[in-house]
Amino acid sequence: MGDSPILCAIDLEAPGKQFGRLQVPRSSNTSGWSNQFIPIVTVARGAGPTALVLGGVHGDEPEGQVAALNLARDLLPEHVNGRVIVIPCVSMDASLAYTRLLPSGANMNRSFPGSPGGSADEQLAHFLATELFPRSDIVIDMHSGGRTGLCLPWSEMHWVDDAAQRRQMVDGMLHWNSDWCCVYIDIAGTGLLVGEAERQGKIVVSTELGGGGHVTAAIHRLALSGLTNVLRRFGVIEGDAVTRADLDLPEQVLLMATELDNYLLAPESGLFEVTVDLGQRVSVDEPVGRIHFLERPDRAPEVILSKTDGIVSVIRAIATTAQGDNIVVIAREADRAELE
Ligand SMILES: [Zn+2]
Repeated sequence: MGDSPILCAIDLEAPGKQFGRLQVPRSSNTSGWSNQFIPIVTVARGAGPTALVLGGVHGDEPEGQVAALNLARDLLPEHVNGRVIVIPCVSMDASLAYTRLLPSGANMNRSFPGSPGGSADEQLAHFLATELFPRSDIVIDMHSGGRTGLCLPWSEMHWVDDAAQRRQMVDGMLHWNSDWCCVYIDIAGTGLLVGEAERQGKIVVSTELGGGGHVTAAIHRLALSGLTNVLRRFGVIEGDAVTRADLDLPEQVLLMATELDNYLLAPESGLFEVTVDLGQRVSVDEPVGRIHFLERPDRAPEVILSKTDGIVSVIRAIATTAQGDNIVVIAREADRAELE
């Protein structure tokens, strides 16, 4: 396929349901001539839109992987108007190790647009960017806070420049029907999967479904119900999409985390104690946490103050903290009109 060294064992254009795999060349100390298999499932019928559904870009985020596995297993061609391509777990080795990053140290979500001659993660990113994104109208990339962060469960988006694309992405974000939605910026590097899909003009829908190293049944339900509803909204699978009003739920709370001041970074290394609760409203200069110094019981902890008014949206889930780690995100509550 193109100039990619990755082999795709199924015909992505074939109708019906196929369980296949991507094969990424691999050569290790224990197997000189090897391929890594990344399962891929396609379910296609007719000429409708194509949705690409991705879980496990980070290995310690099982919510999206479970939802993608459930969708891929249960979806039948007669449910589909167009095509659904599912990769339940993009970063297989990271998921097997239950770590955010790949064992190589690479962050799959910083590997885009990738390179056919690069490392394994860059080869896979390049395959997604050149073979799968161009075939797709909608790209759904499911994340959570993983082991390191506890997020309010939300659907999310970048504020892309193209107004027509942005309207569709807002629509997708709202149709996840989570209690929270978040417009965010990247504060920790470039090369994100969603960024490349957005650059290609796709309707990109993403999530941060909780995290903190623990998944509740409610989160698993939200992952699959939101994914299914978004696919219905864009006409890829049969059935009517529902809104929160249809479900007798109040409107989503809209969070804007689009300023650097929304993201509080640890000024020193130490043991982090959060002193506010997820979802709590806080004011500028209000204490949200403290950093303790295990080697200096005589020393007062460093108090962390909010830099904005807003809602506690993410809390670091690992107490041991290094200088510069994001410890709390305080997002601004926004009005629905701001999404128009
Ligand atoms: Zn992630």
